[in-house]
Amino acid sequence: MMPLAINASAAERPGKIYCYCRCPYDEVSEMIACDGEDCRIEWFHFECVGIMVPPKGKWYCPDCRKKHGIVQNNEYCD
Ligand SMILES: [Zn+2]
Ligand SMILES: [Zn+2]
Repeated sequence: MMPLAINASAAERPGKIYCYCRCPYDEVSEMIACDGEDCRIEWFHFECVGIMVPPKGKWYCPDCRKKHGIVQNNEYCD
């Protein structure tokens, strides 16, 4: 989980659509990568997945949590 890596990876793929809101990358929104191996979206805006601060450790988007039965509970810590 490396929120800051978006700068590099997004630049390599101009025009790629991210997140549930289907937006292209923009510099002002903080984004988080899903750790699900076959995640269909991969990158999400913090506000679109309801997180305020980068979670520690792995983070899975709601789709992957449902698909793999993952209980994500670290997003409310600290
Ligand atoms: Zn979004
Ligand atoms: Zn995912």
